[in-house]
Amino acid sequence: MAQIQTNTWEGLIEKRKNVDVPEGLWLRCPSCTAMIYRKVMEEALHTCPDCQHHFRVSARQRIHMLVDAGTFEEMDADLAPRDILEFIDKKSYAQRLFDEQAKTGAKDGVHVGRAFIKGRPIMLAVMDFEFMAGSMGAVVGEKLTRAIERATKENLPLVIVSCSGGARMQESTISLMQMAKTSAALARFDDAGGLFISVLSDPTYGGTTASFAMLGDLIFAEPKAMIGFAGARVIASTIRAELPDGFQRAEFLCEKGFIDKIVRRADLRSAIARSIDYCGK
Ligand SMILES: [Zn+2]
Repeated sequence: MAQIQTNTWEGLIEKRKNVDVPEGLWLRCPSCTAMIYRKVMEEALHTCPDCQHHFRVSARQRIHMLVDAGTFEEMDADLAPRDILEFIDKKSYAQRLFDEQAKTGAKDGVHVGRAFIKGRPIMLAVMDFEFMAGSMGAVVGEKLTRAIERATKENLPLVIVSCSGGARMQESTISLMQMAKTSAALARFDDAGGLFISVLSDPTYGGTTASFAMLGDLIFAEPKAMIGFAGARVIASTIRAELPDGFQRAEFLCEKGFIDKIVRRADLRSAIARSIDYCGK
């Protein structure tokens, strides 16, 4: 390895990046490069105490941070996906599902159920990026649809927290039809006068963005979240043009009117509770 010059500012930063850090106790903020004590980061709702970078969280961590303690009543946790197409990419879809289920302890990539936020009852769905990049297959679509239909029947405000790479390619058209299915259920929910608050976290892409995630009565996004349909590189090479600064960042989309409000994680509970009260739900 080349000798690092430590007599310049750049050299010092480079040296800092190369210091071996024991796994677990400390971590480096990918945004401001500060070293953060993991416990401090966790207590700050998985954000950097220096620059407020929002770290990605699992669905379980999100639920824990978002709802009133002990109020999440999970539904359809046993709904499990099947490898209908016997799809094989680098490994078989069946094996992939087995591995992801073993890793996360969940049957698929969304957790749904009733909960309370600051004492207000809601129907909640939280996508889990840890399970196959939060991709939407038949089970994710079905669980979301059931949650929307229950919210309609029980006249509950609906909150969906998206964190997803898009439709699940291993389920091909079956995954794509979940876009229409969830959107149709939301249209019926809307006809019944329901309130849908869509929360977009980093990243929200593809079929998720192109269906339910963008159909909220209110659309909140976490700071700096990447949100789009196709990735920036694909778009840049397709249209052969330079993309503007901040392209697909939450702040850029908010400025263009795609998102209603950027909400810091620490303010999310209050923002949802306030919106429910304001809409008289
Ligand atoms: Zn930071």
